Amino acid sequence: MNVEKKAPCPRCGQPARLDESNPWRPFCCRRCKLIDLGDWVAGRYGIPADDREPPPAADGESRQ
Ligand SMILES: [Zn+2]
Repeated sequence: MNVEKKAPCPRCGQPARLDESNPWRPFCCRRCKLIDLGDWVAGRYGIPADDREPPPAADGESRQ
């Protein structure tokens, strides 16, 4: 048995391999993954993407 797992690329609809040989899964290729990721980031944040929130400050109660 040698079943290839394939599913349509969420981006372009071409068959994309879903095993380890495809580092871009579930997309068919790097471009589709980057495009989709870019859309997602842009849609969610609406910014160029280098604006990280600072880590939450630890409370000072248990100091001293
Ligand atoms: Zn694709």
